Amino acid sequence: MTIYLILALVSGLIIGSFLNVVIYRLPIMMEHHWQAEARQILGQPVENTKRFNLCVPRSACPHCHTQIRPWQNIPVFSYLCLRGRCAGCSAPISLRYPLVELLTGLMYVAVVWQSGTTPLAIGGLILTTVLITLTFIDADTQLLPDQLTLPLLWCGLLFNWYTEFVPLASALWGAVLGYMSLWTLFWLFKLLTGKEGMGYGDFKLLAALGAWLGAETLPVIVFMAAIIGLIAAIILKVARGQPLAFGPALAVAGWIVWIANPQITQLIQWWLRSSGLTS
Ligand SMILES: [Zn+2]
Repeated sequence: MTIYLILALVSGLIIGSFLNVVIYRLPIMMEHHWQAEARQILGQPVENTKRFNLCVPRSACPHCHTQIRPWQNIPVFSYLCLRGRCAGCSAPISLRYPLVELLTGLMYVAVVWQSGTTPLAIGGLILTTVLITLTFIDADTQLLPDQLTLPLLWCGLLFNWYTEFVPLASALWGAVLGYMSLWTLFWLFKLLTGKEGMGYGDFKLLAALGAWLGAETLPVIVFMAAIIGLIAAIILKVARGQPLAFGPALAVAGWIVWIANPQITQLIQWWLRSSGLTS
């Protein structure tokens, strides 16, 4: 088992390093795409911009534009070796890069620790990877890209079709009710206050979580996300004074439900029984 945990940690660190690239570049790629589309609609010439995707151009220091060499790209280790500074110009490197790598590594360990070497663990690793990416993109840009939320939803349905982790009907209803519940809440809130409290990305993310974890867990996820969001708002809003994205709170709640699933399922069953909803 230890060897699998070490393997999980190492692959988590490496994937985490790639997630840093996705988190930074995907929103920029989306913006380029929107601008090109808008130009096309307006009949303006589409500028021939430089290629920019997840692989091209190579990563470089944002201050001195020196390309990052392979040995400077080893997760966490390189950051420590460079003492958090660029080798070219000594500009500080954001602490977030090694933290995302470390977080991914530790969450991978938690998934393998919990599920062992089963198909369940593979599902858990996919879910974890996409949730980390969505969390940081939403925190940065208030966007939850369709390119991530929609495949996550399909993967959840396929995962439950294959593993029967939750019954397929529960996964299907999880997707439908996950979307509908927040959509309804959004429109009620908008009609009552004239404000938009959430975005459509949040509905799609909860639909995806429903597809993975089943309809029964939706109330728990939303309840936990509300508490997490509230705590985050208290901690962060005072300092920054900007609206908070709900996506990260949903993602964190969904991941906790995934990891603590047996205990949480027992808790829900106990609650349903004690409130007389089921016998
Ligand atoms: Zn530099």
